[in-house]
Amino acid sequence: MDSLANGLGLYVHWPYCARICPYCDFNVYRPRDGGDELLDAILQDMAFWHSQTRSRRLASIHFGGGTPSLMTGHQVEAIISRAAELWGLEARIEIGLEANPKDVGRYADFKSAGVTRLSVGAQSFDNQVLKSLGRDHGADQSALAIKEAQRVFAAVSIDLIYALAGQDLAHWQTELEQALRFGVGHLSPYQLTIEAQTSFGKRAARGEVLDAPPDLAADFYEMTQALCDKHGLAGYEISNHARSEAEQSRHNRLYWAGGDWIGVGPGAHGRVGASISGGRRATTAHRRPQIYREAIETGQSVWQDDDILTASEEAAERILMGLRVHSGLDRSHLRRTTGQDIDLNALERWSEAQLMRSDGDQAWLTAAGRLLADRLSGELVGDFSVEQGR
Ligand code: SF4
Repeated sequence: MDSLANGLGLYVHWPYCARICPYCDFNVYRPRDGGDELLDAILQDMAFWHSQTRSRRLASIHFGGGTPSLMTGHQVEAIISRAAELWGLEARIEIGLEANPKDVGRYADFKSAGVTRLSVGAQSFDNQVLKSLGRDHGADQSALAIKEAQRVFAAVSIDLIYALAGQDLAHWQTELEQALRFGVGHLSPYQLTIEAQTSFGKRAARGEVLDAPPDLAADFYEMTQALCDKHGLAGYEISNHARSEAEQSRHNRLYWAGGDWIGVGPGAHGRVGASISGGRRATTAHRRPQIYREAIETGQSVWQDDDILTASEEAAERILMGLRVHSGLDRSHLRRTTGQDIDLNALERWSEAQLMRSDGDQAWLTAAGRLLADRLSGELVGDFSVEQGR
């Protein structure tokens, strides 16, 4: 079992973006001010969460969004130092921040504020692709930003998007090789997915083809695995590659291992375990920044949803998350935390089809199985209609 299964993480959602990308389905808004009022609200939200989780130190902090690189170094520092005062930080803490290449001038400030790991949202090294994705930076800016990130940080990751309509394997290979030539320790190549409520989703509904057909997308995926392996960046999760275990994302590993995390900021999700609630508590903060801020200012609940997951819901989440990582799902941990197990018939069926493997209580997807991860995970969740008590 990954030790991060017992860890506590802090996720900070900074919901502002200079431009809204047409494929994005995150909770994002154009900024109206410098964000200091939102910062105050987040700091108060953290104090409330601390009252619920006070005896635990933080294993990770992650600034996501939105575009947290729109924050100033002082704003980032205020959150990190408050987190250190409230919970205390584990010695090996990872403090990650997702950065737009255009905000390269602030990277050194983020390092001074305490950030240890930067993910640069390059997405592509082809200006035509960047334009079609609606990105507000060019390929040259991305290259400069990655080099600056490598100068400033020991841990740097690059995010890429592939499997666009019109893209062929040779084009994607060129893009991927460009990214690999930087020699970063971590790479996250994501397939473009079209979400219905986005601008791309609306265009697709009108008949426009924006992403690659599924067969070609599978070829892209296999080539990505082979090329990353060849360059020493082994896959450790469906869309994540690292040069070594030390360079894997600890914050994401905490999610996949089923650890607890606090989510602060508009629309942030949180999961905390039985230590405070007798069941796994799933929270979602109000999505609109103004409503989130007003809820805090007036002493109202900051959460639009606050549920205790049933054992079945919790097991389903743990299975879907656990099977994303190459090392697989620890079934004994699943049984201990939820009283449930994966569907053993499905496990046998997929093992015979060479899509899964298992060894004792560990079960994982093979390379072929990872191409069908969503479908297989869904079947392994099985029928949890008979609820088991806690
Ligand atoms: S910068 Fe990232 S979070 Fe913001 S709109 Fe684009 S994809 Fe979404």
